[in-house]
This record gives sequence, structure tokens and C-alpha cells, in this order.
Amino acid sequence: MVKIPKSHPRYWSLYYREKIIEGMEKGMTAKAGLIAHGRGEAFDYLIGERTIEAAERAMKAAVAKLLLAKHPVISVNGNVAALVPKETIELAKALNAKLEINLFYRTEERVKTIAEELRKYDPEIELLGINPTKRIPGLEHERGKVDENGIWKADVVVVPLEDGDRTEALVNMGKFVITVDLNPLSRSARMADITIVDNIVRAYPRMTELAREMKDYSRDELMKIIEDYDNGKTLSDVLIHIRDRLTKLAEGGIWRKKTLE
Ligand code: ATP
Ligand code: MG
Repeated sequence: MVKIPKSHPRYWSLYYREKIIEGMEKGMTAKAGLIAHGRGEAFDYLIGERTIEAAERAMKAAVAKLLLAKHPVISVNGNVAALVPKETIELAKALNAKLEINLFYRTEERVKTIAEELRKYDPEIELLGINPTKRIPGLEHERGKVDENGIWKADVVVVPLEDGDRTEALVNMGKFVITVDLNPLSRSARMADITIVDNIVRAYPRMTELAREMKDYSRDELMKIIEDYDNGKTLSDVLIHIRDRLTKLAEGGIWRKKTLE
């Protein structure tokens, strides 16, 4: 990995960019994954590269739903494995959820490399999606493969950084779909039942914290959080946040100013 000086004003952005490149070089991340990452970065810039209130609210509802689920499954793709391998395992454990490697550009080699990467952080971790035998209806062969004991039988699925078409197919299967997506306008963001508009590098650690906190909540308390949650409002609030932030920046002036907050 290229060494980035910690003093660089865009250190973290460059750090995760290097992680994605490294993920591609290892054979985990697809080339299109690099482009998807760039699209994410652009929206993160607009949001202000922090977890906003609407995202915090979505994460609470998501964790409540996952704690109440019978068969919660967290999907892992090449970008996720490059950015947050350890954090993904921690989240799955905190939620008692299963992990399934599920790729848009599936190749056996890529699945194997991602599994090896995750097992560096926990050699015992159960990983589904290695030999998927089921297909999501409406998706062509490779894109539709899912594990019988994973996404196939899941009631609640987390599909971060996911393609809109696949998100929609999961919704059509009757799954409760949670996504993490920095673009509030993407089809995934608009199709999902709960949309966490935040960078996955911030969202997963926060969701793990929430899961540890909320696991002692009563069923009624968790159900109330879900009932009170409105994903349409979340998406609107994100757009309003971006609009207001841009208005403020435009009125304040951004030329050669030190920070944008
Ligand atoms: P859709 O098909 O849903 O309309 P898309 O074609 O942009 O949208 P994909 O490229 O298939 O979506 O999926 C990647 C999505 O993940 C993008 O919307 C991108 O903004 C988002 N994304 C990329 N990196 C991150 C990240 N680190 N954290 C959260 N979201 C991210
Ligand atoms: Mg897409």
C-alpha cells in the first residue's frame, strides 16, 4: 500500500482509496467497484463526510429490525471486504447475523479471495455464499446466486453498496432489505426498506455499538423503534441536509477557506 502522510488534509479519503486499490490488486474488488467507490466519495463530500442525524436514525431502526429478525444475513461484496473486513465480522457477531459473500461480478476466484481475507480476522467465522445453490428470481444466472441457508431463507438482509436491480429483486422476494449507500438518489437507496446514507467505514462501527447497546432492549421497545421509522422521511431529510449545507457554504463562500464545515 502506498504510504500516505498522516498530515495530508485528505488523509482518510486517500487511505480508503488505497484500501480499494489494494482490494482490487488482491482480486477481491471488481474494476467497476473502483468507480462505485468514487461515486460514493462524491456524495460523502456533499454530505460533509460525517454521520448525519438521518443516518443515525436509520441505523437505529436497522439494528432494531436485525435484533428482532429470525434469520438476519449480512451480504459481503468486494468493496466491503476491501474497506471493512474486520468491522463486518464484528457487526455480524454483535447482531448474531450470518455473513454471505454475494457478488455482482461473481467469480469463484473472487469469492475464495474474499473468504480468505475475512478469515484473517477470524479463522472460525462461518461464511455462506461459497457454494450457492439457489437463485433470486428475475436475475440472470451469476448475479442471482444465493445460499440456501443465507439470503435465500433470510427474513432481513443487509446489502451494502448494492446495485439497484438486485436490491429490487430482493424486495420482490419479500425480504426486508437494509442498505448502506452514500447516494440517496440511487435505485438501491430508494428501493430498500431502510437506507443508511453514510459511509460504510463510519456506519458499521456505529451499528456494532448500537447492537451492543440495544440487545438488552425489550421486544416492545425494538418494535416501537421500527414502527416509528419512516424511510421516505430519512431520504428527504438527507436531501434537505445536502441542500441546506450547500446553501450555507455558498452564502459563506468557500474560496481558500480552510475547512468546509
Ligand atoms: P443503483 O444501481 O442503485 O441506482 P449505482 O449504479 O450507483 O446505483 P452501484 O454502483 O451498483 O450503484 O452500487 C454502489 C453504490 O454504493 C453507489 O450508489 C455508491 O454511492 C455507494 N457507495 C460506494 N462506496 C460507498 C461507501 N464507502 N459507503 C457507502 N456507500 C458507498
Ligand atoms: Mg447500479
